[in-house]
Amino acid sequence: MKDKKQYDVIIIGGGPAGTTCATMLSREGHEVLLLEKYKFPRFHIGESITAFGANAFKKLGIYGELKQIGYVKKKGAEFIFQEKSYSAYFNKSFQNESDELPWAFQMARSKLDLLLLENARKSGATILEQHVVKRVLFNGERAIGIEYKDLSKDAINPPLQYAYAKWIVDASGQAGMINKQVENNCYNDFLLNKKLAIFNHWEGDFEITNTDEDVNFKFCIHENRRDWAWYIPIDKNIVSIGVVLSEESIKNRTEGLEGVFYKYAEQLPFISDFLKNPTLKPIDKFRSARDYSYRCKQYYGDGWVLVGDSAGFIDPIFSTGLQIAFSSAFMLVDALHEVLSQKSPNYSKLKAYNRNVNKLYKINSMFVYLYYLSGLEFEKLWSISHMWKYLKWSGLKYPVLFFWYALQIRIASKKQARIWGDEVLFGIIKSQNPLANLLLALSENYERLQNRRAKNVISRNQFLEMEV
Ligand SMILES: Cc1cc2nc3c(=O)[nH]c(=O)nc-3n(C[C@H](O)[C@H](O)[C@H](O)COP(=O)(O)OP(=O)(O)OC[C@H]3O[C@@H](n4cnc5c(N)ncnc54)[C@H](O)[C@@H]3O)c2cc1C
Repeated sequence: MKDKKQYDVIIIGGGPAGTTCATMLSREGHEVLLLEKYKFPRFHIGESITAFGANAFKKLGIYGELKQIGYVKKKGAEFIFQEKSYSAYFNKSFQNESDELPWAFQMARSKLDLLLLENARKSGATILEQHVVKRVLFNGERAIGIEYKDLSKDAINPPLQYAYAKWIVDASGQAGMINKQVENNCYNDFLLNKKLAIFNHWEGDFEITNTDEDVNFKFCIHENRRDWAWYIPIDKNIVSIGVVLSEESIKNRTEGLEGVFYKYAEQLPFISDFLKNPTLKPIDKFRSARDYSYRCKQYYGDGWVLVGDSAGFIDPIFSTGLQIAFSSAFMLVDALHEVLSQKSPNYSKLKAYNRNVNKLYKINSMFVYLYYLSGLEFEKLWSISHMWKYLKWSGLKYPVLFFWYALQIRIASKKQARIWGDEVLFGIIKSQNPLANLLLALSENYERLQNRRAKNVISRNQFLEMEV
């Protein structure tokens, strides 16, 4: 540990967002300190990585290594309804022509996050595991450092220590360290609130095959068309399964986590058939996450920045958490590098970061909301009755624009519509994407209407205190 404890950047949290920032900023020659409260490897949910992940891993220089340790390929998803099923593969248009068909990884986050952390260390960042940040130090409005404890030697009563930096990056995930101190910055996503996910890993006597035809990611949809489950093999004989329940289903629960899990798992034929294998054992305890959709008003302030889940999170239905964490971390590195490299800093890239991240969350959240609204069927998204609903939300403020975007989507070829859809999902949004523009317009107008009624718009801290 350095004596001077003064850095260019201090990063709170060693998840994918934090380690991406640490690796890339260190490579640019900045002095980086990253503190992570756990000793890695540690459990984390979020094992399915979209094809965009491959580009992030290439930039970070770990793609080759991941290919060695990542046994299960993710080539797309199989959507399993009670009465039908179909598979969708990643879109080739995102890759160079010479690349193999796009695929990504499904693997335990304990492995992935460890590799990312070691990569950051190799890049020159100072990484302190089992170091928990207690609070961010402010001088007036300006974030100047952190107060932390080293749990590695004395986990019971370690002394408080201090470190200082020009910029504090909050990558603490759903813990949202800075949002605990900057009041009313983080608010729940009123479109997607009140959900509960219950999950575990199972190991047993079965073998995941990994041929070109296998789509190992299964998305299982409940007959009520609100609840769903993921089935994500993460190794040869290990599968991650989680059920995601809507507000209506949560309300009626009487059992504990495990009981609720099995109750819903039994109602999903693919999952219940799989779980009948007598050799299967849950590896871990049953865990849960709830009310996890939120975003912020400001993604940076004086001396502080939010990235990854600490900035926002959209329902995990499209497995976009990691890809948003990576893509926003790359954007942030670009902006911070510019600010740190100039004598009189120009904040234009940070402002662009703020704008783009905000846009990404709004577009994604509206897409996910419409998908839930359509009973988890993509084909129904653009039905006339749904279009009518969207038009009402558009508030008639921009009806011509709304019709223009909607018309472009309706008359587009299936292939083009798929590219626009994938761009939205993968967070690679080009300004001429009418789907992204439509979703953004709907989101902004819907938010305006909600704000006017002052209904449902409450801070995340308040929201988490409420009984579900
Ligand atoms: C139910 C569920 C299912 C999901 N499934 C998927 C999926 O299939 N695919 C996908 O891409 N995403 C998924 N996600 C989302 C994904 O897990 C996150 O988006 C991703 O982990 C975000 O990365 P991050 O680096 O921002 O935060 P994290 O990965 O959460 O990392 C934050 C780190 O900060 C550390 N930390 C926290 N507080 C402190 C502190 N005070 N001091 C020091 N360290 C601290 C934590 O220990 C942690 O290691 C899912 C999320 C949920 C809730």
